[in-house]
Amino acid sequence: MPVAIDKYQEIRTHLDACKVSLIAVSKTKPKEDIQELYALGQRDFGENYVQELVEKEAVLAKDIQWHFIGHLQSNKVKYIAPFIYLIHGVDSFKLLVEINKQATKNNRVISVLLQVHIAKEETKFGMDAEELNAALEGASSLSNIKIIGLMGMASFSDDPLVVQPEFTYLNGLFQTHGKRKTDNIDFAVLSMGMSGDYQLAIENGSNMVRIGSLLFGARNYNK
Ligand SMILES: *Cc1c(COP(=O)(O)O)cnc(C)c1O
Repeated sequence: MPVAIDKYQEIRTHLDACKVSLIAVSKTKPKEDIQELYALGQRDFGENYVQELVEKEAVLAKDIQWHFIGHLQSNKVKYIAPFIYLIHGVDSFKLLVEINKQATKNNRVISVLLQVHIAKEETKFGMDAEELNAALEGASSLSNIKIIGLMGMASFSDDPLVVQPEFTYLNGLFQTHGKRKTDNIDFAVLSMGMSGDYQLAIENGSNMVRIGSLLFGARNYNK
């Protein structure tokens, strides 16, 4: 399926008007699709799989800002640490420590978002409110990371009565912990909303959305 250029322009115009960042989620899609949106000015792309991301980064334009939005295993942080722009799905303190270690090795400060579990489904990763609090408390010694906000994935449902309270809850945590400013905690980003729910997410405080299938078409995992 070709890249939905018209849809991209439409979404982009809308998001620019409300000052919301767009991450184009290109997982499983070929580099040609990324280049098509790059040519239109898109610079932020999101990927879920380390190996796929590393392969794409090696051959695509160096001014792309790569976002890791999947579940990141500690033993794979080293592969993306040299170049990653923002890691969205940090769901444990252990992972935060490893990112700090690899960032130090690379002489970088890596920006991260802590992922909060907001969906009903068991399968979605993320911290609960208590773990979030503990991670923020513990982060003060980690000088090569910068925690710039929160990320969450709502339930897979098109019922706003299910999804909306989840977004509201995450926005509440974002507001509360946003008051906590330290050398390496400075909240600016609330990453929530995907193809099916991004408008609702924005209405409920999101300022960064991660959109894949609306731009690149449905994904085929069987190729
Ligand atoms: C795949 C993915 C997206 C994009 O999903 P679409 O429904 O295709 O827009 C957004 N966020 C995360 C964390 C994802 O894994």
